[in-house]
Amino acid sequence: MAEHVLRMKDVSKTYGKGDTAVCVLRNVHLALKPGEIVGLVAPSGAGKSTLLHIAGLLDSADAGYIEIAGQDLSTAKQPQRTVARRRDIGFVYQFHHLLPEFSAKENVMLPQLANGTQRGHATARAEMLLTLVGLEARLHHRPAELSGGEQQRVAFCRALANAPSLLLADEPTGNLDPDTSDRVFTVLTDLVRKEGRLGALIATHNHQLAARMDRVLRLENGQIVEQTPRVQKT
Ligand code: ADP
Repeated sequence: MAEHVLRMKDVSKTYGKGDTAVCVLRNVHLALKPGEIVGLVAPSGAGKSTLLHIAGLLDSADAGYIEIAGQDLSTAKQPQRTVARRRDIGFVYQFHHLLPEFSAKENVMLPQLANGTQRGHATARAEMLLTLVGLEARLHHRPAELSGGEQQRVAFCRALANAPSLLLADEPTGNLDPDTSDRVFTVLTDLVRKEGRLGALIATHNHQLAARMDRVLRLENGQIVEQTPRVQKT
């Protein structure tokens, strides 16, 4: 197993050119180990999504080194990035983005089938993951027949469908009411811990949720400026 699920060194990103250029990331360094749950906290517009998209190989940095599960992908071409993204990275967004015409189980099976997993195995893993998040009675429900919290729990299972090394989550409970957000966040962290070797980077501006993670990184003026030790859970 690689020592880190994610390593970024001197990663920079600027949008636009000349007078309108916005420098969003300036020489960002970070390292995430297997099994770690790390919060990424910053106000809106600070660059959290930009950082997660670069870490998730959905966007490219202007400069810098990026390694996923021990593989240097800094200069990798699109096909190699696509393979690494499908195999090693799970993504969760603020909105579930589930496919409306498919059931919860099918939504968790589809990424596995796209990755070449045999149908029987994909079914078994989808049922196992959905049971872990308490949705064993909702396997055949479509997204519109699920509550917001349930939809997001299905989205967590879909992100973990191919047993990635790295989970990237962008405000994963930001669309839920505070109580549901709290419960669904517990489901997410339990799921990450059960997967064992999985490392998670979770962007949030909810400081209470951030305090429940192993470490918190703050993004300020385009740099990771603070790394606080774990706050004791209450
Ligand atoms: P956050 O996720 O912390 O809210 P973002 O990463 O979405 O922040 O955005 C950081 C900054 O970069 C914002 O000022 C935003 O307007 C700008 N930005 C993001 N994407 C683009 C883009 N594609 N083109 C130009 N500017 C962008």
